[in-house]
Amino acid sequence: MMEKNREVCYRGTRSNGQAVKASQAILKGLCEDGGLFVPDHIPTLDKSLGELAGMSYQEIAYEVMKLFLTDFTETELKDCIRKAYDEKFDTEVIAPLVEAEDAYFLELFHGATIAFKDMALSILPHLLLTSARKNHITNEIVILTATSGDTGKAALAGFANVEGTRIIVFYPKDGVSPIQEKQMVTQKGANTLVVGIHGNFDDAQTGVKRIFSDKALEAEMAGKGFQFSSANSINIGRLVPQVCYYVYSYAKLLAEGKIRDGEKINVVVPTGNFGNILAAFYAKNMGLPIGKLICASNENKVLFDFFRTGVYDRNREFVLTSSPSMDILISSNLERLIYRIAGDNADKNRELMASLSRKGVYEIDGAMKEKLQDFYGNYADESETAAVIKKIYEDCGYVIDTHTAVAAAVYEKYKAETGDNTKTVIASTASPFKFTRSVMNAIDAKYDSMTDFALVDELSKLANVKVPQAIEDIRTAPVVHDKQCDVDQMQAVVREFLNI
Ligand SMILES: *Cc1c(COP(=O)(O)O)cnc(C)c1O
Repeated sequence: MMEKNREVCYRGTRSNGQAVKASQAILKGLCEDGGLFVPDHIPTLDKSLGELAGMSYQEIAYEVMKLFLTDFTETELKDCIRKAYDEKFDTEVIAPLVEAEDAYFLELFHGATIAFKDMALSILPHLLLTSARKNHITNEIVILTATSGDTGKAALAGFANVEGTRIIVFYPKDGVSPIQEKQMVTQKGANTLVVGIHGNFDDAQTGVKRIFSDKALEAEMAGKGFQFSSANSINIGRLVPQVCYYVYSYAKLLAEGKIRDGEKINVVVPTGNFGNILAAFYAKNMGLPIGKLICASNENKVLFDFFRTGVYDRNREFVLTSSPSMDILISSNLERLIYRIAGDNADKNRELMASLSRKGVYEIDGAMKEKLQDFYGNYADESETAAVIKKIYEDCGYVIDTHTAVAAAVYEKYKAETGDNTKTVIASTASPFKFTRSVMNAIDAKYDSMTDFALVDELSKLANVKVPQAIEDIRTAPVVHDKQCDVDQMQAVVREFLNI
């Protein structure tokens, strides 16, 4: 485990072009040919598990991130970590591990927006600014994001009032939940802009992509001292910070004597875009003793089918579920795994991705499928999801959100199918207060008649958990963003905000 680590460079998944340094990959976000940046090798942990067991979240974050972001200095990285994981989190430990039922729930929702996207989006702005400085970029960075709800707020919270940046978020005016909308339109910070568009999420996403690829606009922006960047989940600057909490959870289990040094644990991840579980896969490949990576899907079970058959097929009906952040048919980050199991073969990966974009489907060969042994996929339907919320509440008094419940239900299926009783960490990706109505309805149908905020108070009593500040904030916060626009006006809105 103590071997010396080399510098990590980043290559695209779709061509064999030149590798770039970590800071350049963070600045670019996506390769020009549409591929994703991947590390040219996965570094090995250079501290023993025993040493890690004695460390704080911030210290472990440093030990992990220094191995991936090798062109950052120690001071730069520690500075980013200190600014990210501070009082914005409502607990000093940042990511508490709660034992309930027969698993350990790793609570990743103690940040500003009470969902796990905060784990990465609180540090991304600092990584991005440091990267800009290192590469002698003096332009102001303008973050453009299309959101279906959660990413927008987490990005706003991360970038608000960060000097040298502005952030513009477009959301479908009638396509997000009332709580999600309220969270966004009450966002403070003079460098923030939130705009409701008259269209759906795909329209917002397409509009943003069009602005990104407009070369004339790019040149004009540069002349005025601006450049675009993205807070999208495919940025390596979001992936790397997610590796840290898997290492942290292992270290805590070891420190608390729940496992022996070197004992394998399993990890269950409620999955949408495949970023979170890919981070767990990277942690395993760094030498963290992880057995199975259990990939949990909701009724949009593309990944379940993929792990069973080797066929990825997005041609199916899109189902709206009570775990909306997992309602996804194209899991962008899966491309990084496909590239890897193809033997880091960009040509092969590019063909598969071309097939996905042309026909909505691709199939991997037997040799690639062989390399998926670390993964187990399954899914939970709506009634199974609700049932497990009720069961865990009744057994332990512990209330989980709908996304985490998908993972808990899949974990039950995994155990029944395999008899594997390895100690298991379940990634708990959102606070139940973010999806109060679905959670309360799962516990008892009588709650359905109550108003949203009455339900919040009721949940607080039931779970014996204080209402999170993020929810208190929106009870009374004034609306500060009320701009709306048509899809074809998005560029004009950007120009107006930047005064160009
Ligand atoms: C984004 C999100 C997920 C899915 O995570 P991926 O990294 O996209 O797989 C799961 N749960 C919640 C609450 C989320 O916000």
